[in-house]
Amino acid sequence: LRGIGGYANVAAMTKPGFRGNFYSGVGLDRADALRRDATWVAARQTDPKSRVVLVWRNRNLIRRADEIDAVWLRITEMTILDDSEAEPVFLGRDGDTAVFAADLSHLAEAEAQDLAAEHGVFEDLRAVGPLMPRRNGAILAYARGLLYWHRRHRFCGICGSATVSDQAGHVRRCTNTGCGAEHFPRTDPAVIMLVHDGDRCVLGRQKIWPPGMHSTLAGFVEPGESLEEAVAREVYEEVGLAVTNVTYESSQPWPFPSSIMLGFRATCAYAPMRFDTDEIESADWFTRAELHASPEDESFRLPRRDSIARRLIEDWLAEE
Ligand SMILES: [Zn+2]
Repeated sequence: LRGIGGYANVAAMTKPGFRGNFYSGVGLDRADALRRDATWVAARQTDPKSRVVLVWRNRNLIRRADEIDAVWLRITEMTILDDSEAEPVFLGRDGDTAVFAADLSHLAEAEAQDLAAEHGVFEDLRAVGPLMPRRNGAILAYARGLLYWHRRHRFCGICGSATVSDQAGHVRRCTNTGCGAEHFPRTDPAVIMLVHDGDRCVLGRQKIWPPGMHSTLAGFVEPGESLEEAVAREVYEEVGLAVTNVTYESSQPWPFPSSIMLGFRATCAYAPMRFDTDEIESADWFTRAELHASPEDESFRLPRRDSIARRLIEDWLAEE
């Protein structure tokens, strides 16, 4: 896949030299006007140039040969997609190649494995995302997130009737003619923030995380608050600190299952923390020297390389 220029050029939209976070940079023309045209979409589904990526129960089909990568299948060769349950969704255009995603979650495990065997394996993208070409990882994340939303919205939240996919998978429409509600794909905003006093930053850990892992604080935005307010509230709830000077850094699609992480930095005077042990197992202030010397083992490690948390920490570390 070649990608598009123009509006998809992250460096041109943000700071010079800025490289987007992992799972951003899909670089497909989402073709909003064309995807509303059912005739055009149907023609793309029978076009031998069109490609499809497959998802089974939140796992993407991954090639695990010499290099880990996405598997692009020719949509016209995928007779399994004739099964109405698989309903391909249109992700976008790469030049004149239409790219679709299809969900095979209705297949039993053995059937899914048989289907995958020729091409690769169905795997959790989080296990291989950092190892594959960035853009292809972003496309697989987009596919996973959009298909997850479809599986969770088969019934209308207003009247309870069945919904059907429309606009090539970018809306679900209620089949009850008396209702007809349209439901659009959801992304849940979460704030994630590096809190620092200049020389030290705040990292915490949750019990459910891998042993030793410490990360920035984060939490979901609630109805009726701005992003800055969400940052301040989460920091206060988790560690009892009052932040000032909340500034936006960058964002990351995190469709595991359905979030977008909005990355911030906030300053705070050095103070002891008090933390709610239900949510946070521990939290502390760390100097740059301490983080540079991280043993990256079960006693202490930084968050995963593909996370915006790691990006926020590394950008701060680079400023000494
Ligand atoms: Zn309805």
